[in-house]
Amino acid sequence: MTRPIQIWWRDDDATEASPALSRLLDIKRRWNVPISLAVIPARAQKSLVAVTQEPNVDILVHGFAHINHAAPGERKTEFTLERDLAEVRNELSSGLARLRSLLPQTLAVFVPPWNRFPSGLLDELAKTNYCGISAWGAEAEWKAAGGLSIRNMHIDVIDWRSGAAAKPVDGLKAELAALIAQSKSALNGPIGLLTHHLQMPEHAFAALEEFFHSVAQSQDVVWTRARSVFQVPEPQ
Ligand SMILES: [Zn+2]
Repeated sequence: MTRPIQIWWRDDDATEASPALSRLLDIKRRWNVPISLAVIPARAQKSLVAVTQEPNVDILVHGFAHINHAAPGERKTEFTLERDLAEVRNELSSGLARLRSLLPQTLAVFVPPWNRFPSGLLDELAKTNYCGISAWGAEAEWKAAGGLSIRNMHIDVIDWRSGAAAKPVDGLKAELAALIAQSKSALNGPIGLLTHHLQMPEHAFAALEEFFHSVAQSQDVVWTRARSVFQVPEPQ
């Protein structure tokens, strides 16, 4: 029997405790699924401390302030090659430091806002002590730099092109099945599931639960957590 393919869950844009975040964490507990919260360092509030104190919650660094610095007409991105390099370096390192002082369990894994980050800056991430980056899409399209692990998301519960509507659960299951088939022929790391708790329409929460139900019944996939995906040892 072949080994099951790993799947992990990343939720973006957390800054504070909120009803939507509580709802997501309830679902996490109900289905016993590990979650990684990508938290925005410059906007992170103390209220996150209490709500993230439970097993199987990993914290990732979601940009610095989640501000768009793209040139007019360009796609949104916080980090660009045109920005002052000293300022970029400062944001990358102080973002990690700030989040670690608030949430010591933070992993040195960078999640670029809007899933965009210039490959010309990957080296800077490695230099500022990040061990990995998580964005969107096939990892092969990202050039690894300085020993950084690249572990992306591949399934999004929201259909952004249809006005941020919830995808039907059958669609999510079909995406998973296609990714499983792909992984079997060319295994290149775990499958990533992406959510945005603050922007999920009502239907998306239900679809997520149904999706978790089908993963629980599958022999092909097994949940893993960011700490394992990025091979970060447990704290002593
Ligand atoms: Zn974001």
